[in-house]
Amino acid sequence: MSNTQDDKPRNEIRAQRHKARQQKVKASVDAKIAKAQKEQGILLVLTGNGKGKSTSGFGTVARAVGHGKKAAVVQFIKGNWECGERTLLEGAGVEFYVMGTGFTWETQDKEKDTQAALKAWKAAEVLLTDPSIDLVMLDELTYMVSYHYLNVERVINALKNRPPMQHVIVTGRACHRQIIELADTVSEVQPIKHAFEAGVKAQLGFDY
Ligand code: ATP
Ligand code: MG
Repeated sequence: MSNTQDDKPRNEIRAQRHKARQQKVKASVDAKIAKAQKEQGILLVLTGNGKGKSTSGFGTVARAVGHGKKAAVVQFIKGNWECGERTLLEGAGVEFYVMGTGFTWETQDKEKDTQAALKAWKAAEVLLTDPSIDLVMLDELTYMVSYHYLNVERVINALKNRPPMQHVIVTGRACHRQIIELADTVSEVQPIKHAFEAGVKAQLGFDY
């Protein structure tokens, strides 16, 4: 139905109600903004079984670099393919450390994997003591803890004692409870559906 003269009073009432509601929302948001005055490095955990954890982390790295900040990435799983973000971000001056020695999901050699995880973690520890690095992304770190390749206390200790203004992003499924407790922001990506389940293989430039 079109807007007639008869609707005018009703429309005005609606507009007034909308304005009153929005004013309330604005007052509440303004109060929260006024209260949030602290400046500090943020520990962000991106976990859950849905797609979008690493890409979200890399998006934040791109955001930091766009503001002239210094970022570094440690990848705890060497995939069968190289992710596109690495090529782009390395070109923008982001230091990457990729866990070597051919770690895969099928690996059977616990000792070799533990050594690889430790080597990558030591690189992470160096970054986590360097105040010149504004943002450290620890991609797929959660598995190193859940597979017991890395001691959770050692991870917590390094995260706790990092430079106070340094931001850290941890990604991966099934994040350890202690890391979640320490984090400032935790997001869980929930799968609703994934193309893979319909038989679509991982697509270059989209999935990696
Ligand atoms: P992305 O890197 O796309 O943000 P992610 O970091 O959230 O994904 P990972 O568990 O690290 O997820 O998975 C890496 C690869 O597995 C990506 O190619 C992604 O598309 C795929 N993947 C992620 N979630 C699912 C899922 N629920 N089912 C099948 N494949 C998935
Ligand atoms: Mg990932």
